[in-house]
Amino acid sequence: MVSNKNRNRKQKSKKKLRLPVIFILVALLSYIFSFLFLNKYEMVLTLKGDDPLYIEYGEEWEDPGVNAYEKNAFIGFIKSKVTPSVSNNITDQLGEFTITYHAKTNRSEAEVKRKVIVQDTTAPVIELLSNPDTYTPFNHPYVEEGLTAVDNYDGDLSLSVTSEEKDGKVYYSVTDSSGNTATAEREIVYDDRMPPVITLEDGGDVLLQQWSQYTDKFSAVDDCDGDVTSQVKIEGSVDTAVPGNYTLTYTVSDSHNNQAVITRTVHVIDGSIPDRSKIIYLTFDDGPGQYTDELLDILDKYNVKVTFFTTSAYPAYAYCMKRAAEAGHTVAVHTATHNYASIYSSDDAYWDDFNRQNEAIAAQTGSRTTLFRFPGGSSNTISANYSQGIMTRLAQEAEQKGYQYFDWNVTSGDAGETTDTQVVITNVTTQVASNTEYGRSSVVLQHDVKDYSVAAVEEIIKWGKENGYAFLPLTSGSPTAHHPINN
Ligand SMILES: [Zn+2]
Repeated sequence: MVSNKNRNRKQKSKKKLRLPVIFILVALLSYIFSFLFLNKYEMVLTLKGDDPLYIEYGEEWEDPGVNAYEKNAFIGFIKSKVTPSVSNNITDQLGEFTITYHAKTNRSEAEVKRKVIVQDTTAPVIELLSNPDTYTPFNHPYVEEGLTAVDNYDGDLSLSVTSEEKDGKVYYSVTDSSGNTATAEREIVYDDRMPPVITLEDGGDVLLQQWSQYTDKFSAVDDCDGDVTSQVKIEGSVDTAVPGNYTLTYTVSDSHNNQAVITRTVHVIDGSIPDRSKIIYLTFDDGPGQYTDELLDILDKYNVKVTFFTTSAYPAYAYCMKRAAEAGHTVAVHTATHNYASIYSSDDAYWDDFNRQNEAIAAQTGSRTTLFRFPGGSSNTISANYSQGIMTRLAQEAEQKGYQYFDWNVTSGDAGETTDTQVVITNVTTQVASNTEYGRSSVVLQHDVKDYSVAAVEEIIKWGKENGYAFLPLTSGSPTAHHPINN
């Protein structure tokens, strides 16, 4: 019985032992099996962020990237992070592009793409320039003060801006190549700050023979109101039967109360003995230059006409010749270069320089002149250093060519003797008074390139007007005040 019991126990324990062994064996086999057949890895790439990804042209953006890892196909929780390579074909243009993410190990590989759309939804920016001193006269179209239009993609679109004036405003619009439109508007500032301009057709002062007929010709134009000639009021009158100086004052206002006043003096001279001694011809050499505009303003203020013997020394002020001619002054030749050594080296050299200046005058005034003044005057001796007898020859040649030269009989002293305005005034007024005593008109030499001489002109004009003088520009019939020729 005992032995049977034991045998049974032994048999039972044998059975108990077999199960774990089988289990271990199966596990071992399946592990080997999985290692041999199922040890597969998978690359997983998933996009983070949007696809497609919209980005604005020119703005900074960031690639949202991808989640990337390698996973064991059999034992899913075994993952290892992977850093994929990233490439794109994005250029500096609008359009559709692709970002490609690619990851690879020796066990797995994957690729994923993202669409990127670069777009322009930003409108251009219009900037209007405006000058606080600028205004538009009533009844006038608006004149553009300036603007810029810049687009983030197209760049400068200033020239593509369209504008429309309507009901006191200007409306601007511009559209970029992606169809984004920007608009802007400005209110027009209307004003009337300019008085009318009165133009006296015979220039300023008029010289009349006794008993001749006087016809007053003038016109007035306003920047807003147009022709206002009919509204000009004239104070004073002229009696051509009685020699004397008659002052006429012309006054006109525009509809916004800007008033213009201008005067002219009509000199009625004795029919038998014209009083030429009461005529002053102011002449200015060596300009136009930086003080010529100021001089023209003074002359306008007193409505005095003068003569400019011009050079091309300061080409930036050439426009003053046009301004002078339009105001009724005489614009004549002095010299293009004022270089004695070259212009007096030969007759041809002189006339070459003369013609050059005459062309410069024509370019500004529209016509050549026959009037001139020799550099240094006809009596100069410096020319003898370069060509013997040249002044004598040039004077004859001028006459043959139909040209007329002028010297002077009043020296202001502004060419070197003085830089004092008061001395210039005294020089001019005393010599003019002396000429009057001798019954001569006065041809005054000044230089509009000297500020202290230009500063004397207003006082000279006031003195002249107070003392009954007429200021006239030189013309082909005027006294020439010739000097004796010394070479
Ligand atoms: Zn000169």
